[in-house]
Amino acid sequence: MTAERHEFQTETRSLLRLMIHSLYSNKEIFLRELISNASDACDKLRFAAIQQPDLIDGELFVELQADKFAGTLTIRDNGIGMSRDEVLDNLGTIARSGTKKFMESLSGDQAKDAQLIGQFGVGFYSAFLVADKVTVKTRRADGEATVWESTGEGDYTLEAGDKTERGTEVILHLRDDEKEFLEAHRLQDIVRKYSDHIGLPIKLRPAEGEPEAINQARALWTRPKSEIGEDDYKSFYEHLTHDFEAPLAWAHHKVEGNLEYTSLLYIPARAPFDLWDRDQQRGVKLYVKRVFIMDRAAELLPPYLRFVRGLVDTADLPLNVSREILQGNRTVDKIRSALVKRVLDLLDDLAANRPDDYARFYEQFGKVLKEGIIDDHANRERIAKLLRFNSTTALDKPSVGLEDYIARMPETQEKILYLTGESLGAIRNSPHLEGFRKAGFEVLLLADRIDEWVVGNLTEYQDKKLESAARGNVEAAGKIDTADQAKQEAEFKEVLAKLPEALGHRIASARVSARLTESPSCLVAPEHGMSRQLLEILKQAGQ
Ligand code: ADP
Ligand code: MG
Repeated sequence: MTAERHEFQTETRSLLRLMIHSLYSNKEIFLRELISNASDACDKLRFAAIQQPDLIDGELFVELQADKFAGTLTIRDNGIGMSRDEVLDNLGTIARSGTKKFMESLSGDQAKDAQLIGQFGVGFYSAFLVADKVTVKTRRADGEATVWESTGEGDYTLEAGDKTERGTEVILHLRDDEKEFLEAHRLQDIVRKYSDHIGLPIKLRPAEGEPEAINQARALWTRPKSEIGEDDYKSFYEHLTHDFEAPLAWAHHKVEGNLEYTSLLYIPARAPFDLWDRDQQRGVKLYVKRVFIMDRAAELLPPYLRFVRGLVDTADLPLNVSREILQGNRTVDKIRSALVKRVLDLLDDLAANRPDDYARFYEQFGKVLKEGIIDDHANRERIAKLLRFNSTTALDKPSVGLEDYIARMPETQEKILYLTGESLGAIRNSPHLEGFRKAGFEVLLLADRIDEWVVGNLTEYQDKKLESAARGNVEAAGKIDTADQAKQEAEFKEVLAKLPEALGHRIASARVSARLTESPSCLVAPEHGMSRQLLEILKQAGQ
């Protein structure tokens, strides 16, 4: 059969061009990407073997082979392989929405752009960073062999192949100036740097003799904690997430007894581009007895902790567990509540011991964490402790925690005061604050959209009521001096009584208040009614 010629999509072409231009000083990452694909393919085979055990006929591995005469580097695996249609889908088209976002995110800063590449599902194309021609030979266990080939310049060819073993072989015809990637020590260094902790051997096939593993080949989380260094955790994180920025913190636990699982959870330093994309899959990886089961098991952590990356390996679920089984499974529920505690402990620790890093975390993920106040009643108090707000004494940064706030409260103040609004600018000079400023009461300034729901759900913290500074009876927030008030109230009684009518009943009543020191008047919400801000949100939502 002759080779069929296919055009790349326009997007693929511009992606390739862009990638070559923007990553030329970080070319070595091609190896990380191709090994990661090979390792994924082995994971998929292990998974398929749960239903069809005879699929596994020996050790799964990745093998590197450099041929100095031919000038080629081959990355070979005996994983799942690809059918012809899969080759077309996976290597010919980048229909995935990630591509466009990837291109939009390129900043021109090479180090940063190199970090992006793996996160957008375009890793395979990094092969063209070092190769002027790429040949992929692949075969599924039960299928025909296929050969894909391209110079990365607009089209590729597909034809039937003669590969007899299952798996995939990516052959890079290295450019003349990229021959360093034929050197054993260079390959070894890159593997150590990026792929040491992949749970399967990465072998180097020498010109003569048997191939030898050049990585640890033991999944990191299965090793005793005492043997694992900080750098090991960091490089494993890179492997797991393709995020090249080091994680802020992590927690590794092995639990035995009633429940049996190992968890390795990371707090990233930076939010992914799709943190707010509702359709985006989220969650940690799930392994059952070291067999990879699924990439993003959403059921293992609640949505408000969707920024956590990592994995859970458990012996308490069946190997054939599916997403359907995960939902409402009691073991999963138990693991989830244990994991939530781990994450909250980790954040507590970060907040207490590394406040600068905690501020970084909060800037990236604080708004997500706030959802927990609404969603997770059982842990509300713990989550509330982790929140940080702007206040009348912290206008620049949300740096005030409720503990600090309470510790600073003057003795005369009884409630935690807050003011919500559209933006900090809109509320920081609000007349509602005047009286409290004078009394020396700090007021939290809440301008995130979600804040209105947060204070709607968090009515008290450590026995202190939260009270809006914009509500009726704020004098009850503490002992603001109200000596004059009664006198004035009597003095203006008649005027006050006439005001609602004079204003066409757009207000319910008028009162004399100690809350203002400079402004002549202000509007306040009734004590038990909805706040203006909430009414506004409901109105916008069409309710
Ligand atoms: P990602 O790995 O993020 O999906 P890539 O561009 O790295 O994106 O790879 C695209 C797809 O090509 C993979 O999702 C996989 O389906 C397929 N693929 C790549 N390499 C292999 C391989 N060695 N074995 C099987 N499938 C592969
Ligand atoms: Mg990949």
